[in-house]
Amino acid sequence: MSIIYKILGKPGKDNALFVWINSGTRMYRLLFDCVEGLLNELKPQDVNSVDYLFFSHLHLDHAAGFDYFFRRNYDRAAKPVFIFGPENTSLIIHHRLRGYTWNLVGNAPGVWNISDILNNEVTHFRFYTSEGFSKKHKLKTAPRKSIILENGSFTVEAIILNHIIPSIGYLVTEKDYLNIDKDKLEKSGLPAGIWLQQVKDFSIDGKNKITIDNKTYTLNALRKMLLKKHRGESIAYLTDFIYKGNTLPALRKFLNKCDTVVCESQYSQNDISLAEKNFHLTTGQAARIAKCAGVTNLVLFHISERYKFNEDYKGLLEEAKKIFPNTTYPPEWNA
Ligand SMILES: [Zn+2]
Repeated sequence: MSIIYKILGKPGKDNALFVWINSGTRMYRLLFDCVEGLLNELKPQDVNSVDYLFFSHLHLDHAAGFDYFFRRNYDRAAKPVFIFGPENTSLIIHHRLRGYTWNLVGNAPGVWNISDILNNEVTHFRFYTSEGFSKKHKLKTAPRKSIILENGSFTVEAIILNHIIPSIGYLVTEKDYLNIDKDKLEKSGLPAGIWLQQVKDFSIDGKNKITIDNKTYTLNALRKMLLKKHRGESIAYLTDFIYKGNTLPALRKFLNKCDTVVCESQYSQNDISLAEKNFHLTTGQAARIAKCAGVTNLVLFHISERYKFNEDYKGLLEEAKKIFPNTTYPPEWNA
């Protein structure tokens, strides 16, 4: 199991985040915000296989790439599309879905699930390509707990931040998992081989038996002998919000020592008045959040275009590093 991520977009331009989660048996693809032109930075196969699209909010600079995503997935047969976002996400995206002429879709596959994350509840809706997206089917309203999505491999939690409007921050956490321990395998004297796949695959009943080197074992016995528990990895996506009121205590609790935080830092610490006016963060504020929450790495992104890459970026990073040394820009920026 592992989490791999890529920040989409250039320094000083609109940005987004793509996350791959390898569960050991399948790959999950998560997209955070849908910025114009940025999906070109991914392989078509990744765009066509996004399992979940999460919007922080629906300002144009975070959502104008939606049509490209929509065109590639509108009649996807392999799996439904899931979209999460703040209040009115289902309303706004429904307008996008309805914004074309659908007389030729026939019985095309395509199921779109859109969920609005509200203060106290999450409301789930469904749309069908074969209906030309005309009907908004309400599925259910569930009380909102921190976790908005959970499967066998990972959870996604949401926090509502303040960008004048609600802006949602997300935390993805892999579940702890069992894997073959090399030392234990060596000590057992058993030869490595394809049979190890069955030991790791919990969809196979542990009472099943396999024979290795003429000796027969149950999978349960092999699992007890060879597996070791590993801690799942975690990554958070935080963008477009103000640092005030209870932002810091709320994020400290929410992030809870996660591995990596990808966090906006629109402004230099010297321009804190602009950050407050525009409901954004400074470098120092992003660093203070990372420090207080005890996270491992802070990755700064979504920086205002007022700063020049060659002249200002080093100083901006230093501002954050003074407070939280383990701060970097996305590796793709070569900053
Ligand atoms: Zn923004």
